[in-house]
Amino acid sequence: MVSTITKEQTAKEYVQAVYDKVISRNQGESEFHQAVKEIFDSLIPAIEANPQYIKHNILERIVEPERVVYFRVPWLDDNGNVQVNRGFRVQFNSAIGPYKGGLRFHPSVNASIIKFLGFEQIFKNSLTGQPIGGGKGGSDFDPKGKSDNEVMRFCQSFMTELYRYIGPDTDVPAGDIGVGGREIGYMFGQYKRIRSGNEAGVLTGKGLLYGGSLTRTEATGYGCVYFVNEMLESKGLSYEGSTVVVSGSGNVSIYAIEKATQLGAKVVACSDSNGYIYDADGIDLALVKQLKEVDRKRISEYVKSRPQATYTEGCTGIWSIPCDIALPCATQNEINEESAKVLVANGVKAIGEGANMPSTLEAIEVFLNAGVLFGPAKAANAGGVAVSALEMSQNSMRQSWTFEEVDAKLHQIMKNIFNNSTAAAEKYGHPGNLVVGANIAGFTKVADIMIAHGVV
Ligand code: GLU
Repeated sequence: MVSTITKEQTAKEYVQAVYDKVISRNQGESEFHQAVKEIFDSLIPAIEANPQYIKHNILERIVEPERVVYFRVPWLDDNGNVQVNRGFRVQFNSAIGPYKGGLRFHPSVNASIIKFLGFEQIFKNSLTGQPIGGGKGGSDFDPKGKSDNEVMRFCQSFMTELYRYIGPDTDVPAGDIGVGGREIGYMFGQYKRIRSGNEAGVLTGKGLLYGGSLTRTEATGYGCVYFVNEMLESKGLSYEGSTVVVSGSGNVSIYAIEKATQLGAKVVACSDSNGYIYDADGIDLALVKQLKEVDRKRISEYVKSRPQATYTEGCTGIWSIPCDIALPCATQNEINEESAKVLVANGVKAIGEGANMPSTLEAIEVFLNAGVLFGPAKAANAGGVAVSALEMSQNSMRQSWTFEEVDAKLHQIMKNIFNNSTAAAEKYGHPGNLVVGANIAGFTKVADIMIAHGVV
């Protein structure tokens, strides 16, 4: 039985009633439910202090995407067979600015995954302080093992439908898992062809030769490390001499490894969806870059060139490697309660979520109860989309800033996110809890703008 929603409810009753509705309206979408629960549980103090959010029924409005499109993506493989995938774009919230968020190409993609990502994106984008709303999209297409030509044909077919819904001032997609510079290039080429014009700002994460921003490739990983640095410094700690474990070996992981190493850490492990490598001497990043960025090989190949390192099949074991700092940069729900307990038992001091929703709700609970510094994804991985917004600014101005300029802006944005989240946590009675702080800081800005815009 779904509870009714009224202006007279207490904050707790209201949150529960809307959450019940989310479950019944979005059946089977477990990742979306999880993302909503994580945010809603944090918002109770903010809703208690701001009864206008109940009066304007902000929660029920915010969990309903403004628009969802899903579409057929037919393409021809190299053998001439017709393949069909499903494409998605969720335009979740445009209170702050054009919908903004990546495209994920991965076989696990479905409505639940895209909606959880799109929902989180609203609050993450709000936290960046940049004028961007929240959206997300993607497909269940798997680029792994496909030829370049197959990836190109798929991207062209995908954009032949997606172009109707996007534009530099309406919705600006970018990359996510399975979508990097190559895919953005093919999609941009097709968009430009269909629109017969060069609207550079329609996608971000573009190549540097055609409107991309310096530092965008590095931004999510660097930003995550900068954010964790703020958490460490607030407790008189630093990366210097620390041992770090980073999961994944995509764009986020590679540049998290690079920045953590530059700041004096030793990164001893990373992974892909098949397994993980452990290199006690510290990861050879040039080798990882060669394998993943150039050769598109599996991480297991690493040990062929570095025989002192070990490769283990399966992913969860990476969290049993003792470390001071853990940066989950692979995918959702990669740290469960059990892995969190192992990390805590091994003395972990800080977690920085580079991926989207990498810790389960139970794992977050374990970290917070143990007093581990915990940088939630919406805050810690916001650097990528923040630099995407800087790419949009440069495209609008027809200028390009230097690496140092963009990196300095990124660094400042990550500091601001840390300070604003810390202040919100304090103000609403949960000092030090950055889950509560980031969620409330991200939410209140969107909610206040929604009220200003009226019932739309
Ligand atoms: N996919 C990234 C994210 O999760 C980046 C999105 C963007 O740059 O628009 O935030």
